[in-house]
Amino acid sequence: MSKPLKHVVIVGGGSAGWITAGSIAALHNTKSEQGIKVTLIESPDVNIIGVGEGTWPTMRTTLRKMGVSETDFMRQCDVSFKQGAKFSKWVTGEDNDFYYHPLVLPQGYFDLDLYKYWQQDSRGQSFSNAVSFQEQLCEHGLAPKLITSPEYAAVANYAYHLNAGKFAEFLKQHCIDNLGVNYISDHVVGVNSLDKGDIGSLKTRKNGALSGDLFVDCTGFAALLIGKHYDVPFICKKDILFIDTALAVQIPYEEGADEIASHTISTAQDSGWIWDIGLPSRRGVGHVYSSRHTDQASAEKALRAYLHQSIGDKSEQLSFRKIDINPGVREKFWVNNCVAVGMAAGFLEPLEASALVMIELAATTISEQLPANREAMDIVAKQYNQRFSYNWDRIIDFLKLHYIASKREDSAFWRDNRDVASIPQSLQDLMTLWQHRPPIEYDFSHKREVFSAASYQYVLYGMDFNFTNPALNRNENEQKLAQRLFNENEKTTEKYLNALPSNRELIDKVVAFGFSKV
Ligand SMILES: Cc1cc2nc3c(=O)[nH]c(=O)nc-3n(C[C@H](O)[C@H](O)[C@H](O)COP(=O)(O)OP(=O)(O)OC[C@H]3O[C@@H](n4cnc5c(N)ncnc54)[C@H](O)[C@@H]3O)c2cc1C
Repeated sequence: MSKPLKHVVIVGGGSAGWITAGSIAALHNTKSEQGIKVTLIESPDVNIIGVGEGTWPTMRTTLRKMGVSETDFMRQCDVSFKQGAKFSKWVTGEDNDFYYHPLVLPQGYFDLDLYKYWQQDSRGQSFSNAVSFQEQLCEHGLAPKLITSPEYAAVANYAYHLNAGKFAEFLKQHCIDNLGVNYISDHVVGVNSLDKGDIGSLKTRKNGALSGDLFVDCTGFAALLIGKHYDVPFICKKDILFIDTALAVQIPYEEGADEIASHTISTAQDSGWIWDIGLPSRRGVGHVYSSRHTDQASAEKALRAYLHQSIGDKSEQLSFRKIDINPGVREKFWVNNCVAVGMAAGFLEPLEASALVMIELAATTISEQLPANREAMDIVAKQYNQRFSYNWDRIIDFLKLHYIASKREDSAFWRDNRDVASIPQSLQDLMTLWQHRPPIEYDFSHKREVFSAASYQYVLYGMDFNFTNPALNRNENEQKLAQRLFNENEKTTEKYLNALPSNRELIDKVVAFGFSKV
């Protein structure tokens, strides 16, 4: 009989390490004697990356399953609500050019595709305005729920913006105090291998050998186990997604009570784009760019010019943190008894906040499919590798879509992005299909797809994608249903605009009074 799996050792205490630890510990009853033991070891000498402030709605389920109180999380991690992303200047680069990728599904999404009816008669409305109410909530700075809504329940689907450093610290305390995770602060210096290449234990600087049955590499860009020990090739994706450098800065509010945007703002630049995320105490802003298309001095100048619009001459005094990004993914993620999660597994530009959602997906998959013993592990590993290669490929396609649907001609960055040689064949195929019909669920039919057909619709039609007018089905019932759905959306928009508090107002109330607990 193969040895049962009893002890999971996680290396790294960033978001990846703690989300994985919390997910496994909560599901496998780590705090009881009979549960799976979880140990997290983190180097006191290597800081976490400390950026990564945008999440997906999945984070609500992830936290709830770990037994986290939403009120505590919001109070301790400088959290605001996020209802989607606003993409400015991505289509033409003109001042009035913007579109939304909201988090709610289009009206009647599972009954009828409203796209063709919107295309026939848009009533002067953007696609997202015609089929969802969330663009308007964002434009008015409104929250996605009420103070009377229970924890994690939504009026409008929502995610969070958060302070990444505080988030890791918060999860650490929760995992140690409430879930029974064993924490060690020490630097891992090497690996003791068993026969057939498994990891038997980790060599640590102060605590001797740390043994376990499954080792999770959450060491970020260091990729200590998957990269340095197992030497699993890293497949660079810079030929598809050109962004390779970030300049990040934090901007405090003037009065401490400025409005907080209820969405991530992403503003396209000559050679990249700028993110702007509003937390309760400050904004997090950064310019990600392609170093092949611009240099650091020009990228800093563009970031200062952007900040000048909101904080004036203060933008001149700021210094920026430079982070080198190597876009790409590992050839495999699970080898022998080691699986990589987070930036050790791969990293792509943060355009759609896909990193944390991939960590959640990895942590959920590992904890739900935790192999009972070593014999079962190779089978789970094989499935895991197939599934996550697929997931990464879909994210690459979705990010690239934002560039190829653009009509910008003003710089080499935008023109090069539309070079067919830089577009994955899988995306080229979909674009050919979508010349004749909209993206539909059949195109993304795996369980737990990261981005659904709805996301593709919002981006494509937000970007004014020009496709052959589909023959309109003259079915009268469908026509009536479409009208009803458009009308319902108008009424819901009106209702929520009158009922929901501002993002700032609700956040202040949560901090003062808290939500009702579930
Ligand atoms: C500019 C930028 C913007 C981003 N924006 C977003 C966003 O909006 N949304 C999103 O989802 N994601 C975003 N991300 C990605 C996100 O920040 C990361 O995916 C997330 O923070 C997870 O990081 P990690 O835990 O894998 O690595 P890290 O945070 O780097 O943690 C690595 C851990 O490994 C430990 N470690 C390293 N070496 C050793 C050793 N030898 N022994 C023991 N421990 C060791 C370190 O001490 C640390 O605890 C962004 C990333 C960048 C660069």
